[in-house]
Amino acid sequence: MILSTRTWTLVGSDALFIALSLVLVLQPALAPYVFPFYGLLFFWSDLRRETELGILFIFLATAAGGYLAARQAGPVRAALVIEIAGLWLLNWAIAALRNRSMRDERDMAVEIVSLSAQIKDGERDVAYYKQYEAAAGGQIRLRRDLADSARHLGAATDATQVHERLVSILAARYPECRVEVSAEAGADPLLQGATGKKGPVLARDASADPRLKGQGYGSALAVPMRVMKQPAGFLKIASAKANALGPEDVRAADLFATMAGLSLENIRFYEQVHQQATHDSLTQLASHKAFQGRLQEELLRAGRSQTPLSLIMCDIDHFKTYNDRYGHQAGDHLLRTVSAILMSFARPVDFVARYGGEEFTLILPSFVRTEAVEVANRIRVRLASEPFVFQGQRTSATMSFGVAAFPQDATTASQIIRVADERLYKAKNGGRNQVCG
Ligand code: GH3
Ligand code: MG
Ligand code: MG
Repeated sequence: MILSTRTWTLVGSDALFIALSLVLVLQPALAPYVFPFYGLLFFWSDLRRETELGILFIFLATAAGGYLAARQAGPVRAALVIEIAGLWLLNWAIAALRNRSMRDERDMAVEIVSLSAQIKDGERDVAYYKQYEAAAGGQIRLRRDLADSARHLGAATDATQVHERLVSILAARYPECRVEVSAEAGADPLLQGATGKKGPVLARDASADPRLKGQGYGSALAVPMRVMKQPAGFLKIASAKANALGPEDVRAADLFATMAGLSLENIRFYEQVHQQATHDSLTQLASHKAFQGRLQEELLRAGRSQTPLSLIMCDIDHFKTYNDRYGHQAGDHLLRTVSAILMSFARPVDFVARYGGEEFTLILPSFVRTEAVEVANRIRVRLASEPFVFQGQRTSATMSFGVAAFPQDATTASQIIRVADERLYKAKNGGRNQVCG
């Protein structure tokens, strides 16, 4: 197509040149009128971008004009000379215009190349910043959620609260997903996988794994939780869509599960320390200190509600002799058995404590002294008939009881303890294995 356009240009311009030259040869008198038409050749060649053709024609036209001018005389010659000069001027003007537009085009092309390079750079920067924004946004969100969960999980006071808060934090983080905490792997294949791996597992596309068929999710992850290095259930996040969860989510879930584990450890430590501080390690009964605190509380409550309260103090009879006869281990066993028996007589509102050595106390809210004496007697009868078998050997023991009541005998903690202790002393002096109230 390009070749044929060029051919047409060459053929056409040549034909025009020959036609004009023929007219000039045949009718030299018309030269001043016909000669300027050579100018059309320059326009044509410029239009077709054939610069060399224009140069060729200017020389041919000049030669033809020179030849004609030499054969003419007077004003015709002068006109031809002026017309030749005019042709050169025209050719120069066309070339100058052409050069200028070509320079402009070149400049524009250079500018377009540089602009498109800048646009490409800009697009690359935008893509990078978008990616950076997504990653940084994810990190910021994770940190904020971790800080929130540290605050929430740290404030939880029992395991149920920790689990509930962990689920609600993750449910807010993954609104499209189902979040669960389970104590056991059971028949769940994903949790079984986490147990086997002893670490988090991720199912990006559940439909691709035949073991996960019919589990009702498209993708899921499971993280085993640990408390004090012991397995403590599982955290599971499941989405209806496949590929909704990835390794980033596993890492995040692992972090949240670890945090929850730490909170559970804290709670256990606190419970252990609290238990040790308020309970006796041999009998697991409340300690002397815990008893003092509880007695104050119960007396305040009884005072406010205008209800009675009784206190039983009891002491194993001749326990020193018992230890001497059967040994200290047998004595410890007796203390544990007596504690269990005392606990078995206590209502949920009652409070049983090891006051010290082989002495115990029972706080009985709402009981008047006669009711407490009755309870003490029932305990005494039970203990007296208890075989207290230690290492296959039957032993026997009895206890003496002193009972005091609020507000009948005393209004303060120290008073009621003193009165109950005095009555216990009386029971001992009265021959032991008896209740004094
Ligand atoms: P009473 O009938 O007058 O109460 O005589 P008792 O022998 O029971 O009283 P005493 O105060 O003389 O002796 C108390 C004994 O209790 C002395 C001590 O060794 C023993 N005891 C105190 N705490 C424990 C303990 O935790 N384990 C054992 N096995 N014995 C203990
Ligand atoms: Mg004793
Ligand atoms: Mg004693």
